[in-house]
Amino acid sequence: MGNNGSQENNASELKEFFSFRKIPDALSEYPDAKYVIFGVPFDGTSSYRRGSRTAPDAIRFAYRNLESYDVSYGVDFLEVPIADLGDLDESEDVSEVLDQVEHVTRRILSDGKIPILLGGEHSATVGAVRNLKDTLMVIIDAHSDFRESYMGNKYNHACVTKRALGILGPDSIISIGIRSTSKEEYESPQKNQVRFISANEVRKSGIDSVIEEIRSRNASRIYFSIDMDGIDPAYAPGVGTPEPYGLSDVQVRKILNAFSKKIIGMDIVEITPMYDNGNTAMLGAKLIQDFIGSKESKKED
Ligand code: MN
Ligand code: MN
Repeated sequence: MGNNGSQENNASELKEFFSFRKIPDALSEYPDAKYVIFGVPFDGTSSYRRGSRTAPDAIRFAYRNLESYDVSYGVDFLEVPIADLGDLDESEDVSEVLDQVEHVTRRILSDGKIPILLGGEHSATVGAVRNLKDTLMVIIDAHSDFRESYMGNKYNHACVTKRALGILGPDSIISIGIRSTSKEEYESPQKNQVRFISANEVRKSGIDSVIEEIRSRNASRIYFSIDMDGIDPAYAPGVGTPEPYGLSDVQVRKILNAFSKKIIGMDIVEITPMYDNGNTAMLGAKLIQDFIGSKESKKED
């Protein structure tokens, strides 16, 4: 064996030979970070196209294409304390995954940091929501996700908004981009406890009126959940359950920009790299920068 120095020194020497899967702008370690990214490689309840468990690394890879400076926000991301913790261990057990997400986001939030969860499927969001109170939840989604249970599982990704309602209570969720819902969901007596804004309504009244409506809630804290299928398949083709006639990429960015200062955590879920031409992962990466960039920006918009 000989004297090869301390194990620690060897490890740092070896580090040069490996590429760690991190967002390239994530130069900080956890204790110093303000933004904490982590992946949840889980797609166990997906009903149509599985594969979102590989999305965290697809987003990280796409992010390599992005510049570390954004002139529109005047922000140099290399100067922003961002950490990327990597991915949670893979598991096929949704309850276990939700417990892990709950534990990790609770720690990040209680340390005064901002979690950015990369799915995986939308079901993971419920773990984060368990830590929220007095928080407005804003969801981008093609689906109402309002089933009581689906395929025998109440934590299925088709039940996310219903589970979140059970945690947050009435009048604390706004879900935008809806264009697919079952009769059971549509006729649910609890439906009016969530403000569902359909994609058609966004087209009719315009994104600015949606922003005004969110603003009128006077929320001091917002959790932002982006199910990428809320965005039109033209912009985001690589998702588990695609639906035509969706929101545009720029509309979602506008909502993010309008409320980034109040957003205390967010997730980007449901990207399925196997069905992607690269654009969906790229948009996911860009939305991370748009969130951090607009939150850090000192510019008046
Ligand atoms: Mn969803
Ligand atoms: Mn959806």
